[in-house]
Amino acid sequence: KLKEELSTAENNKKKYLNVRFLAEKDRKRILVTGGAGFVGSHLVDKLMMMGHEVTVVDNFFTGRKRNIEHWIGHENFELIHHDVISPLFIEVDQIYHLACPASPPHYMYNPVKTIKTSSMGTMNMLGLAKRIRATMLLASTSEVYGDPQEHPQKESYWGHVNPIGPRACYDEGKRVAETMCYAYASQDNVKVRVARIFNTFGPRMHMQDGRVVSNFILQSLQGEPITIYGNGEQTRSFQYVTDLVDGLVALMNSDVNSPVNIGNPEEHTISEFAHLIRNYTQSKSEIVHKQAATDDPRKRKPDITKAQQYLNWSPVVPLASGLERTIAYFKAELQQESGNK
Ligand code: NAD
Ligand code: UDP
Ligand code: UDP
Repeated sequence: KLKEELSTAENNKKKYLNVRFLAEKDRKRILVTGGAGFVGSHLVDKLMMMGHEVTVVDNFFTGRKRNIEHWIGHENFELIHHDVISPLFIEVDQIYHLACPASPPHYMYNPVKTIKTSSMGTMNMLGLAKRIRATMLLASTSEVYGDPQEHPQKESYWGHVNPIGPRACYDEGKRVAETMCYAYASQDNVKVRVARIFNTFGPRMHMQDGRVVSNFILQSLQGEPITIYGNGEQTRSFQYVTDLVDGLVALMNSDVNSPVNIGNPEEHTISEFAHLIRNYTQSKSEIVHKQAATDDPRKRKPDITKAQQYLNWSPVVPLASGLERTIAYFKAELQQESGNK
């Protein structure tokens, strides 16, 4: 056990060596809410490696200390166990506001709490940004477009959302969060950035979060049936997590204050994903069909012209290599789990 701890500490030190040194005038104090989650922890890695001072605020509902433990003890890093529904008083230059459960089973688990997180949580972060004159980036979502009637989706599209359906706590929550951003921007001159994030995958995704990529990889690796909900003709466009993180940092540091889609426009049907993942894992799992999910958007694909033009950003990681890295992560997690048993 001691040996294990020592080697983790050694690895951490090695990682620390790669942290860029920034002169104090260039170093920013950055708050990442939801920083212990899937996307948040990758963003923290990037900001820390850039040499900034990073404070993570998380209530650990879906996040894990393990995702950021390699930074604990670093002089530029701070972790605060806090729920964004309560006011927060700190001093920073930038706020990346990611705190919110993101997968349908997680956000539907306690819909009232999801709404409070998006509404009260975002209001607190805007109140904080207003007081300390920080820039606030909201992690919004492609779900603001609902089951879209425009394809691909441009930022100018207003969306097609059921306000009382099972997804409403999440998509209406994010819609009101966007509304609050622009109300604070026009009334109180708060500097806001709104990223409309499309489906994202990669290491540190929750194993059991019920999303399609994690489900299909786990099912394939464990030889269990791959479950397609409905006929599998519905489409999604998946981006790899490091592409998203690069896009978020580019948006934060740009002067674009209107919403920007961040996603990979490569679109596949869910049936194609099932076959791709089964092939990459060399699995013999059978593919089965289950009942379609309620209000499941039939298609989704970002129009990223705006991000390309104004942020000079486009996704660069091909689906195949992203899947390879994610499958390797899930394999290691499964091995560790069986080792612990
Ligand atoms: P995640 O569930 O892994 O991370 C969310 C983090 O927020 C977790 O660490 C969780 O513990 C924390 N959190 C939740 N409620 C909180 C609260 N009330 N107070 C403090 N912390 C809280 O999800 P993710 O995939 O990393 O998503 C991050 C953000 O990106 C979310 O806002 C999500 O809506 C948005 N997003 C993600 C995707 C995607 O495909 N992953 C797509 C669109 C938008
Ligand atoms: N808030 C916060 N940290 C701050 C400043 C404000 O959490 O540093 C919260 C505050 O508690 C309030 C919310 O942000 O609930 C909105 O702030 P605003 O100033 O707009 O509202 P007011 O305090 O005037 O009601
Ligand atoms: N899906 C599926 N099988 C699963 C999990 C999801 O067929 O085991 C489908 C789901 O119905 C949806 C798509 O995959 O059409 C993407 O679902 P996910 O929950 O990953 O994300 P979201 O619906 O939020 O885009």
